[in-house]
Amino acid sequence: MPLFFLKYTAIMKIIFATNNLHKLNEIRKAVPDSYEIYSLEEQAIQVEIPETSDTLEGNAIEKAMFIYENYGLNCFADDTGLEVEALAGAPGVYSARYAGPACSFEDNIVKLLSEMNGISNRKARFKTVIAFVENGEIVTFEGIINGQITTDRRGKEGFGYDPVFLPDQGKETFAEMSLEEKNRISHRALAVKKFTEYLSSKDKQTTE
Ligand code: IMP
Repeated sequence: MPLFFLKYTAIMKIIFATNNLHKLNEIRKAVPDSYEIYSLEEQAIQVEIPETSDTLEGNAIEKAMFIYENYGLNCFADDTGLEVEALAGAPGVYSARYAGPACSFEDNIVKLLSEMNGISNRKARFKTVIAFVENGEIVTFEGIINGQITTDRRGKEGFGYDPVFLPDQGKETFAEMSLEEKNRISHRALAVKKFTEYLSSKDKQTTE
């Protein structure tokens, strides 16, 4: 086979430091064909990945770096948080366990609505950071969506804080939107878009 042909068809394998099938499918649909994305489970990696940082960016980097350093594989990881202006950015990096170590999504919403009781500034934003470690080099991508915390739950779709998050562009909470609608505008979709555009531009450079 001629060498130039090999160059055009090279596939790059990247690990996504997750076992969340929903996130995995979302990103697989978006990356160029020259990239193959594998979950931790698909690589038979069964390990507790440390998440010790007090920033989303720090955690995303820590998770991707952990896989790169321990398994020698190029890897990306994400971390997401809901940042509420009147609560000085809380729950932020602690969004998953806001109401305690083994809390449910509902426990977190109960706590959030109670902390926000009587507060008129309801401004909040979801932020996702993706960190990609390739041959030891770190690149990060950020997606942010601004909105408001509602006073009551609205809608049944989605997960996490979706029933109480009303994005600025629209009249429906994330939980009132279909998954397709949410995925068009969400923080995670924005970060994924930046990341896949980066991969596509690298792809273009190597095939030019
Ligand atoms: P993770 O970093 O994607 O695991 O997200 C951490 C936590 O943020 C989740 O456990 C949820 O509570 C919250 N969260 C993340 N993404 C969303 C979202 O799209 N809607 C609502 N809550 C979210």
